[in-house]
Amino acid sequence: MEELFSIHYAEVGLKGKNRIFFEKRLANNIKLALRGTGYAAVKRLHDRILVHLGQHADISEIKRRLHRIMGIAHFEISCRTEADLTAIKTAALRQIQRLSCESLKVETKRADKTFPLTSPQVSAEVGGYLIKETGARADMHNPDVTCWVKITHEAAYISTEKIRGIGGLPVGVSGKVLVMLSGGIDSPVAAWQMIKRGAKAVFIHFYSYPYTDKASLEKVIEIAEILAVSNYRSAVYLVPFADLQQTIVSATPAPFRVLLYRRMMTRIAERVAAMVDAEALVTGESLAQVASQTLTNLRTIEAIAEIPILRPLIGEDKIEIVEKAQRIGTYDVSTRPHQDCCSLFVPKHPATRASLTELEDAESGLDVDALVEDALNNLEKVVVNHQPSVVGDSFV
Ligand code: ATP
Ligand code: MG
Repeated sequence: MEELFSIHYAEVGLKGKNRIFFEKRLANNIKLALRGTGYAAVKRLHDRILVHLGQHADISEIKRRLHRIMGIAHFEISCRTEADLTAIKTAALRQIQRLSCESLKVETKRADKTFPLTSPQVSAEVGGYLIKETGARADMHNPDVTCWVKITHEAAYISTEKIRGIGGLPVGVSGKVLVMLSGGIDSPVAAWQMIKRGAKAVFIHFYSYPYTDKASLEKVIEIAEILAVSNYRSAVYLVPFADLQQTIVSATPAPFRVLLYRRMMTRIAERVAAMVDAEALVTGESLAQVASQTLTNLRTIEAIAEIPILRPLIGEDKIEIVEKAQRIGTYDVSTRPHQDCCSLFVPKHPATRASLTELEDAESGLDVDALVEDALNNLEKVVVNHQPSVVGDSFV
């Protein structure tokens, strides 16, 4: 008899090669996330992934970490035993005795149809035995505990606890995105939503030091660390933006500055995306949340982009975004004060509807290509490693 975690993923749409790719990625991510917990091995079966426990495995820590792995629909602690009725009964009793329960039910599934008893017969046999041994009563509708028995060709699995996972897709199966991370509340949430859909996130941050302090730099590194709990090893590209902003300020009308900054950021980000093989940019924009995020303005930013700009928060209210940030664990860092580079040298009332022609005119006095090259020459890269202890239990 051996105890292990059985990990299940949502199988919808998973066939052939896709499925193997998905399973391998998930198994790999599980190994990364469980480093240091004392697990013995991670193995892929045809419909689940098993985490075998070493002698000193820290079960509660493993549970905590599994909660954060994208792509897990649910998981359970199972007992694996021979596919033999007596062995199944003994294992089931051991599991049930750990829980306090007054009523129970047994549910059986047979993947091995050659097993001598039918599923209802196994449930009745095991249920009868448990009731006799524990004094609990049978309750088919609302039991304190359900004991699941699964019989396969190689073994039987008995489990009593199904724990809901975070869902989503294993990080890496959907390719790579470059997230424009500002240090505010929204962009970390946007990043998290993309990571949850299986995208590996690389980050880029623009900063205006020495015109602003270094707070935003420290914040984005901390945010990347929190997100690395799901995103694993994360690269953060830091772009000094102050000189470029100075140039914009000296050559363009004040109301357009935010949009001009954003168009320059997008151009630079696209080049970095090409360098790291990211197929899309991601921002934390939400429709009409601020002046730069009206449809008209989004369009003028989008107009110079060659790869898709994804905006996972576009239809979300601020309050919804705040709640998510709190759950993910980025909220406290995001709300620490910092000076945003986009608010530097801008008027109180920036343009809410700048036309493309107006912006192009404003840019005509700038050597856009040289400004982009200059920024790229001063790019810095910081790698943030996965540290599973960074976030508390509120993550799920
Ligand atoms: P956030 O809460 O993410 O800061 P915001 O509500 O402050 O967003 P804006 O300042 O208009 O909105 O920024 C919109 C988006 O542009 C951000 O969500 C982010 O994706 C990107 N962005 C803004 N400033 C920066 C920056 N300094 N570096 C990288 N990306 C940025
Ligand atoms: Mg901001």
